[in-house]
Amino acid sequence: MALKLIFVTGGVLSGLGKGVVTASLGLLLKASGLSVTAIKIDPYVNVDAGTMNPYMHGEVFVTEDGGETDLDLGHYERFLNINLSKKNNITTGKVYSTVIRKERKGEYLGQTVQIIPHVTDEIKKEILDVAREQETDVAIVEIGGTVGDIEGLPFLEAARQLRLELGETNTLFTHVVLVPKLTTTGELKTKPAQHSIQELRRIGIQPDILIARSPTHLSAEARKKLSLFGNVPERAIFSDPDVETVYEVPLVLHKQRILDVISDKLRIKLNKPDLTAWKEFVERVKTASEPVRIGMIGKYTKLRDSYLSIIEALKHASAKLNLKPILKWFEATDIEQGRIDPKEIPEDIDCAVVLPGFGKRGLMGKIKAVKELRESGKPVLGICFGLQVMVVEFARNVLGYKDANSTEIDPNTPYPVVDLMEIQRNVKVLGGTMRLGARPIKLVPGTLAHKIYGGAEIIFERHRHRYQVNPDYIDEFQDHGFVVSGTSDDCMAEIMELKDSKFYLGTQAHPEFKSRPLSPSPVFEGLLVAASRNREG
Ligand code: GLN
Repeated sequence: MALKLIFVTGGVLSGLGKGVVTASLGLLLKASGLSVTAIKIDPYVNVDAGTMNPYMHGEVFVTEDGGETDLDLGHYERFLNINLSKKNNITTGKVYSTVIRKERKGEYLGQTVQIIPHVTDEIKKEILDVAREQETDVAIVEIGGTVGDIEGLPFLEAARQLRLELGETNTLFTHVVLVPKLTTTGELKTKPAQHSIQELRRIGIQPDILIARSPTHLSAEARKKLSLFGNVPERAIFSDPDVETVYEVPLVLHKQRILDVISDKLRIKLNKPDLTAWKEFVERVKTASEPVRIGMIGKYTKLRDSYLSIIEALKHASAKLNLKPILKWFEATDIEQGRIDPKEIPEDIDCAVVLPGFGKRGLMGKIKAVKELRESGKPVLGICFGLQVMVVEFARNVLGYKDANSTEIDPNTPYPVVDLMEIQRNVKVLGGTMRLGARPIKLVPGTLAHKIYGGAEIIFERHRHRYQVNPDYIDEFQDHGFVVSGTSDDCMAEIMELKDSKFYLGTQAHPEFKSRPLSPSPVFEGLLVAASRNREG
């Protein structure tokens, strides 16, 4: 079968859930027997998402091979249940660096290097290379941003050329548009969508499928209008209404028979998809009634997307255990500045996650919260910076090292219990140079970590950090009951846990990136098991 490309573009405004639509199409096609990959195009000039503030861009999703990518790759991995590569995220920064490097090497000797054809050729090459390397039947390519953005133009142009080159039956254009509902009249308005489709057609792309993001299903009238003005047959127009959980989106689209349209357009035979396990998972997410209150201690709490994979990992584990997760957010700066009393936190929750992070703001607040949590005996999971905060708090309040700190926060601390990793000392360039990606972690037999990972000797989790627990202090921590339960060749304390605790565990890695709806991360499951046991006991 020739490679099929499905492009997903967005209209009217960003944040419509194009990533979830892309992931949903992937899931449906995979369940129909095809091999699928998904590619995210980000038209910004950064080479990758690694250098962006989470407030600008949400979480940085880390791939197995150490890519610092857009959070949509997380949706793709979770829905498709596959590992993607850093190559699955293409940015303007990446494309232009390659083109400029080639120009300097003399590969375009004698030519004037231009957006068309040189930049668009590079874009096409990167898309096709990923799809071919991963040997898939279908590659779904989501073009980030909104149609009409200047930065997105070369990518849309490349998509248009790909249709010309690969043919009508090998390419499909899906446009996701906002169809707002007026609160005064309850009417669904299609005009913004019409304009967006017109803009797309002006560029030379006629959408084959329209997906309307609206609060409710499309009315017959709205569908007619979209069809007429968008030049798309009614059977290829789909509603993407508000749902309780994003995991429902593939089911909603499937019910409207989106696969029929895709298989007709691309002339592919699809098996009847078996969505039983997925449906059961969605049902559990929606119906679980036993609440578990999870304290989320962090400093990017005003934009929940900053912690997207952690939130999803908690949902996966909750569904498996039939729990209803209730997230309680504690902004570290509010604790620091006295707007939240840390002593009240443990009473409010059944367990807590000390979230990842960078830099000084909020650290004191986190330390205060962690002290109360540790002393309360409530289950606590620290992730990356979260582990480092647990270590600093323990050093200060148990080992008695006043002013102990991470050298990231205080380079002159007398007790550098968290310090820059040896391999990071010569790093001068900040983009893409952290300790990144999946690495083997050896578990220490007899520990809680060993138990929650089902007795595995070695596990692989993804990393993104420069600092680590200072090896010089590890013996002392261990002597006081804060023991190492996971190690690796270049990081002595990959996982630490309080001996004989219900669950007081910190991990330098980010287990959230590998959590999947039908196979939750053992660490998050362990935390919630401990939390519900704690409530019962
Ligand atoms: N800032 C810390 C480090 O670089 C932790 C990073 C994180 O939480 N991802 O080691």
